Amino acid sequence: MNATAKASVNAPTKPPLHFDTPVQMIKGVGPQRAELLAQRGIHTLGDLLNYLPFRYEDRIRFSTIKELLPGNVYTLRVKVLSGQAVRGMYGRDAIYHLLVQDATGSLPCKFFHGQYLENRLKPGQSLILHGKVEIDKLRPARREMVNPQMEILSSEELDSTETGRIVPIYEAIGTFGSRAIRRAMYAAVQSIPSGLPDILPAALRLKLSLPSRRDALIQTHFPDAGESVELLNIFRSPAQQRLIFEEFFRYQLSIALDRQTTRRENAIPFRLREEKIRAALKRILPFKPTTAQKRALGEIAADLEKPFPMNRLLQGDVGSGKTIVALQAAVIAIENATQAALMAPTEILAVQHYLSAKRVLEPVGYRVELLISGMKFGEKAAALERLANGEANLAVGTHALIEDNVKFARLGFVAIDEQHRFGVLQRKRLMDKAATHGHAPHVLVLTATPIPRTLSLTIYGDLDVSILDELPPGRTPIITRLTTEQHLPGVWESARREVAAGQQVYIVYPVIEESKLELKAAIDEFARLRKDVFPKFHLGLLHGRLSSEEKESVMQDFRKNEINILVATTVVEVGVDVPNATAMIIEHAERFGLSQLHQLRGRIGRGAKKSHCILVAPPRMTEVAKARLDTMVRTTNGFEIAETDLLLRGPGDFFGTRQSGDLGFHIANPIRDKDLLESARKEAFALAEDTTQKPALTQILRALPEEWQRRYNLARIG
Ligand code: ADP
Ligand code: MG
Repeated sequence: MNATAKASVNAPTKPPLHFDTPVQMIKGVGPQRAELLAQRGIHTLGDLLNYLPFRYEDRIRFSTIKELLPGNVYTLRVKVLSGQAVRGMYGRDAIYHLLVQDATGSLPCKFFHGQYLENRLKPGQSLILHGKVEIDKLRPARREMVNPQMEILSSEELDSTETGRIVPIYEAIGTFGSRAIRRAMYAAVQSIPSGLPDILPAALRLKLSLPSRRDALIQTHFPDAGESVELLNIFRSPAQQRLIFEEFFRYQLSIALDRQTTRRENAIPFRLREEKIRAALKRILPFKPTTAQKRALGEIAADLEKPFPMNRLLQGDVGSGKTIVALQAAVIAIENATQAALMAPTEILAVQHYLSAKRVLEPVGYRVELLISGMKFGEKAAALERLANGEANLAVGTHALIEDNVKFARLGFVAIDEQHRFGVLQRKRLMDKAATHGHAPHVLVLTATPIPRTLSLTIYGDLDVSILDELPPGRTPIITRLTTEQHLPGVWESARREVAAGQQVYIVYPVIEESKLELKAAIDEFARLRKDVFPKFHLGLLHGRLSSEEKESVMQDFRKNEINILVATTVVEVGVDVPNATAMIIEHAERFGLSQLHQLRGRIGRGAKKSHCILVAPPRMTEVAKARLDTMVRTTNGFEIAETDLLLRGPGDFFGTRQSGDLGFHIANPIRDKDLLESARKEAFALAEDTTQKPALTQILRALPEEWQRRYNLARIG
């Protein structure tokens, strides 16, 4: 593998760069692209190299138009014959009809939402098309490609990254397209330092026949001609397997080390059998807990009595009532003369938790403190002071809670909501805040992501699991309906009825990356809705680019029902709790992932009134998109939805890039790569426990990102 790897990528012409060289030093990355990359957390050469292809095309031998069979996927090299955009029936979206040819024949292609192609394609241009061949429904004798992936080749720019090889396909980053990324990556790969440190011990690499880190990176980005495209496309090439193994290994090693540490750590054993505490727990309850809530609190309480830290995951579908369970645990901590902290993934959610914690706890005499980054300086300083001197009993906040200037007088219990949004490291940092007082806090992690139990044990390491498998009583099921844009007038009418009856409505737009372009579409649409569709109602707009104050003021108005209809992006996805909102309209529902749709829909159906969710999608969409939406219509059961999600995504990315990224995964997928996960776990635990392996361990930790190094402070294990 070594020799061929070097042959496929030319020897560096310039002195090799370092892994922490800024991306802008790489050929093909200017200031603008560097900015786009930075938004994705890609700052250095090392970061860029971790941005891996999601698919590969065999461009050594192209298929010919003559040989195409319906139902199969092909890569073609063709020339444009003609093209034309035809407006759709409802005005908004045009279909672009394209006719292409190669030496063996011609082929029609269709691009939905294809207006943008009108000015980009010209007769005679060379293209590479990749997609499935289908039968034209109107003329069954005809074959066509619908929405194929396309790359425009301009012959003067043609180089060895384009054709004549197995070509990596990258997900575009904003306007930084796959092809441009590939060129930059080619330059990046050429400058990989030759002495690249390898965190896998040599003995282990030998035992498992894994290639070196350097070769694995080169071969994953620009595979040799001899590699199998089929294996590459299912992430099973030796190079990819090595990278996957490494990511799991690193992560499992951290879990193994953590477990060793936790076992050695002390926590304050809480007393909870006293009458005063029992009474406090009862007093804060605004309603009768469900059986599941009682059981979960029992399990938590049993942990809290022990002299070592609780590490428990509270898993429950959206709306199952995790918050109050966490608050009860906080009360136990407070009654034991310690402080509690509750960390939420977004400011909106932090403020909401703060308000409900205040409502429940302050009448009983506990002091609740809010801590978010958008606070005024003076307020923040005062809050910090009260946390440090112990006046505050519970701190609710975002990641602002883990900043260095935050000190607790005596932190005893930590709850982390929607854990998958936080990095493992962030969780640790909050725990470290208490460690300075000679004891570790008890930790409860709240998650609405229903994952199979075996998997959650692997992912979350040694967290114990409590499950809320029951919804609070008095909920009427949400009715979900799928419709097309054509029927929007009727949809708006039903929203008007809802508001007329005193209820509130969410309208959600697919602003997922909060990019300028997406945001503009949502803002324009908001203006249009307010002016033309709902002139008599109060509308609010909520998106991720608003300041904390703006966000909070919109949410406040919505909570007070001063906003009837909230037009929002996915910022409302997590945790927002306004029971009076009984309808949700999701536009372009086909663009959302299944778990995201489920989270969004969880915002309604929170009161006793019947709730409606309307999914608006185009009449034609991919089979997978259709299956997602059908699932949403069929069921509201989170576990069922998660399972379907798994099936639909297949080897795809169940955890979503954000979650996987948090675990330090760029390529590893715990579901697809279960076998590697298990083997990596075994090897990592063996290494951590083998006292003769200390030097190897130290060496690995030195090669870890700085933040991990600090965490596993080398002195401790050295
Ligand atoms: P999630 O598990 O999604 O975080 P929340 O904690 O936000 O759910 O609870 C959802 C809603 O249900 C809240 O309005 C909460 O006050 C209410 N709730 C929770 N438990 C009960 C219960 N046992 N009886 C009635 N309402 C409850
Ligand atoms: Mg919640």
